[in-house]
Amino acid sequence: MIDPVSRRLRAAVPVVMIGLLLLTPASAHAWLSQGHARVTRAAVESLPPTLPAFLRENVGTIVGASLDPDAFRSPLAPELTAQEGPEHFFDLEMVFPGGAPASRPATQATTPTPGATQPAAFSLPPNRYGFLALCRERNVEPNKVGLLPYAVTEWTQRLAVAFAEHRRWPDDPAIKARCLVYAGILAHYAEDLTQPLHVTMHYDGRADAGNRSPRSGIHFRVDALLGRPEIEAGPVDGASEPQVIPALLVHLTGEIARSNAMVDQVYAMEKDFPPGDVQPWTPSPAVKAFGVERLRAATSLTASLYLTAWDLSSRIKTPDWLAPGTQPATWPAGGSSRR
Ligand SMILES: [Zn+2]
Repeated sequence: MIDPVSRRLRAAVPVVMIGLLLLTPASAHAWLSQGHARVTRAAVESLPPTLPAFLRENVGTIVGASLDPDAFRSPLAPELTAQEGPEHFFDLEMVFPGGAPASRPATQATTPTPGATQPAAFSLPPNRYGFLALCRERNVEPNKVGLLPYAVTEWTQRLAVAFAEHRRWPDDPAIKARCLVYAGILAHYAEDLTQPLHVTMHYDGRADAGNRSPRSGIHFRVDALLGRPEIEAGPVDGASEPQVIPALLVHLTGEIARSNAMVDQVYAMEKDFPPGDVQPWTPSPAVKAFGVERLRAATSLTASLYLTAWDLSSRIKTPDWLAPGTQPATWPAGGSSRR
């Protein structure tokens, strides 16, 4: 939810504020990164002991990697920036004009029943290429809609592959390193998904008839919320403990629907969000309750995705040619070309 060089932040921050950010990049970015870092650390620390201990022991590496998806968007890497930006958001109403139905109560949003599939509020194609086809069908540009649910799904599966390698070669440090990096990148996208203004076309002020959001500045202020020390989650109740998610993309549509359903609530509280990342600020009870709920939702979703990847990894068969230190002289018999 923190996108310092993204479309979102460019849209969110008035020109004067951009100037201030450029003059004080360290302090501004530290606060903006603080939300991702905080949630990622909390998610790792909430994992049950069934997950490998090296995750918890190297939480700092995971936290650092969780900031990289924003760093990928560099002015000196324009091609990567163009690819990366839409991974961070999903403007639901652009593809599903009716939007999502009202969410269930917030307390249920972070407490999936074990083994139960979350009801889908809308239906997404099973992979990103199916989604690109749907966008063409509905005459919308996929890079304007965003691909966030696919980024979350695919990085969960990449982490599952790395976990499967770790299960087979548990002492290999390079495999552990890959698990840590993938876990960090996954955390970033999962956390973005729980920011209501990352899943709506009204991402920075109410969009006009041409689907343009007017850059009111609200996006930056909401992005900064989870990094504010005034938002304290406190002890999390047992019902919010991470759970294995049985049908990932279906579950994410439910998470998006609940996040999107908070957009009206966010706009109703607009004047109460923090004015920036360093200025003194006293949260209203409503903003504080919203911040605490989203902090818990982001933590719970991220930890549940880690658990889901670990569960999936137990069924993934790793190929022999991945064995650390192995240099096969030839391709294995029957191996096929994969381009
Ligand atoms: Zn982001």
